[in-house]
Amino acid sequence: MRGKLVVGNWKMNGGLVANATLLSALLAGWKPQAGRAVAVCVPFPYLAQTRDALAGSSWAWGAQDVSRHAPGAYTGEVAAGMLAEFGCRYALVGHSERRQYHGETDDVVGAKAKAALAAGMTPVACIGETLAERDAGQWQAVVGRQFDAVAAALEGDLPRAVMAYEPVWAIGTGRTASPAQAQEVHGFLRERLRRAGAENVLVLYGGSVKAGNARELFAMPDVDGGLVGGASLLATEFLAIAGA
Ligand code: PEP
Repeated sequence: MRGKLVVGNWKMNGGLVANATLLSALLAGWKPQAGRAVAVCVPFPYLAQTRDALAGSSWAWGAQDVSRHAPGAYTGEVAAGMLAEFGCRYALVGHSERRQYHGETDDVVGAKAKAALAAGMTPVACIGETLAERDAGQWQAVVGRQFDAVAAALEGDLPRAVMAYEPVWAIGTGRTASPAQAQEVHGFLRERLRRAGAENVLVLYGGSVKAGNARELFAMPDVDGGLVGGASLLATEFLAIAGA
């Protein structure tokens, strides 16, 4: 039986004072629920603050990216082992903003997922098509290709990963996939996972999830929770999504 997982992605937002307020509101406002896990993925400089605030609670935390390399001469990169030392349970890999603005290829994303797992973290591997690709009837090809790259990199460790379907046209746009659209893609991914012997991998939906639409999205049979960007910066909104 798969549970639900709701992960906040702060993106490149935050500040020490604002984070403290947000984290303490999340702590105070969250009533743990069986079968439901919650987490926040924060910018690297805030990992220590987040760990100190959330340690011992039912909240987990993670990073928004990870290097595919072992420690060494990779200026500006952060190795998976470093993130693990800060207690990160999760590392996002392949977020569309990394693919789009930093040229991350499917192979790089797969290697990052592998590095995260090797350090004991759970990679949350993000995949999703652009609007042009959807309009051209190519979502199966794009999402399938991105999925296959992660599956090939992880091989027998795929069951230890989390996938996130994030249609690029829905991220930060206010335009959400309908529950039926999300389910169609999640069902497609579930079948690929089943064929890869990893049927129980959680598949999160991400893209303008709000308190007002989370419940109907999360009610879809193959939607196992959400990856939430903008709304995760607002405690009341994010808590409502987490409980939806
Ligand atoms: C994200 O950053 O992963 C995301 C889904 O953003 P938003 O919820 O703001 O669309």
